[in-house]
Amino acid sequence: AAKKVVIVGGGTGGATAAHYLRRYDPSIEVTLIEPNKEYYTCFFSNLVIGGLRPLDSIRHTYDGLAKRGVKVVHDTVTAIDGAAKHVVTASGQKFAYDRCIVSPGIELVYGGVEGYSADAEKAIPHAWKAGEQTAILAKQLQEMPDGGLVVMVAPPNPFRCPPGPYERASLIANYLKQHKPKSKLIILDPKEKFSKQGLFTAAWKKHYSGIIERLGPDFAGTKFTVDVKTKTVKCDAGEFKADVLNIIPPQRAGKIAQVASLTDEKGWCPVDQHTFESKLVPGVHVIGDASIAGKMPKSGYAANSQAKVCAMAIALLLNGKDPLKPAYTNTCYSFVAPDQAVSVAAVYELKNGTIEEVAGGLTPADASEAILRREAEYAKSWYNNITADMFG
Ligand code: FAD
Repeated sequence: AAKKVVIVGGGTGGATAAHYLRRYDPSIEVTLIEPNKEYYTCFFSNLVIGGLRPLDSIRHTYDGLAKRGVKVVHDTVTAIDGAAKHVVTASGQKFAYDRCIVSPGIELVYGGVEGYSADAEKAIPHAWKAGEQTAILAKQLQEMPDGGLVVMVAPPNPFRCPPGPYERASLIANYLKQHKPKSKLIILDPKEKFSKQGLFTAAWKKHYSGIIERLGPDFAGTKFTVDVKTKTVKCDAGEFKADVLNIIPPQRAGKIAQVASLTDEKGWCPVDQHTFESKLVPGVHVIGDASIAGKMPKSGYAANSQAKVCAMAIALLLNGKDPLKPAYTNTCYSFVAPDQAVSVAAVYELKNGTIEEVAGGLTPADASEAILRREAEYAKSWYNNITADMFG
């Protein structure tokens, strides 16, 4: 009988894994289980929030994967039975597997910001999962009066997309500068340091002086309390009543990973970083944001790279062969202005069982505007390439 792989979650990691398994070994039966018929990428969602792209431009369907022979099932996985080797869905279907790949992304820990909850996310969007949430935050900014205050509560480490909150801050500030010049953005941040900090702060000084203010833990502390009705955030630095409030709460591995006992006490999934097979449930592989992947950040490019390593390992294992020595890559572009971006790039290898960076770099601090404009063009082609790579 054909070997069966069941993939839980059709996001960046899951879609890429489905695509590449079919390419590596078309004899493997690949079933991808994902509740949504459309996937909105979080990457480039900050451009939508900043009014620079329509929401439609970040929407993708599963038609390409279906054409490649992936069995796409729209349902939610509610249990993974590692002993019986099957998954169960909300509609009561059972899918048997030889190997299972889980790429459920993140679960938001709403209570990490006191007073915040899933019920409040329509009034106070996190926009850390793209689609409806992206549209809500964009609309609130459009409807805000000039002179309004935007407040962002940034998350503690580790979280999805380390430069993401700061790219968002840049593009919100750009929107305010263009359309509501009397307005301001305050970032309340529980972290001392953040990704590409030097590049972001230089860009803010240059483009958004007097518009963005970031209060770190030395001033604002690390504990935030929100009054949902008045959109007021309390912290060590005082009370901030927002016109538009964006709370990005702490995070952990997607709920199904917790339910299937794939997580450790901190809420993330320990894996053999060579094949991404769970250290807790044999035969189940975890990739993407949910996994603990050494020095790799929780990014879309990282999820895509891990998916290829994992798919290749599974294709070999199912054919009685040993997995190859992997290499992993990541590049994260961040827009600092509509036509300017900065980036961080790295190549990784496995060293003593841990994914370690072996080469990489950052946009130089003294990069000319021409280079920053070129990086923005690279970012756009990266988007086209990765979405084609994910969805076939
Ligand atoms: P996801 O892509 O979130 O996919 C998870 C999927 O699993 C979802 O479709 C979900 O519906 C499904 N799912 C969950 N539970 C179940 C279940 N029980 N049953 C079935 N399906 C389930 N990364 C970059 O590389 N570059 C960027 O520029 C970038 N920008 C970003 C900007 C923002 C604002 C944000 C928030 C993130 C950004 N990222 C970026 C990060 C990137 O989006 C994530 O790292 C990436 O999506 C992780 O992929 P994943 O497969 O782990 O999770």
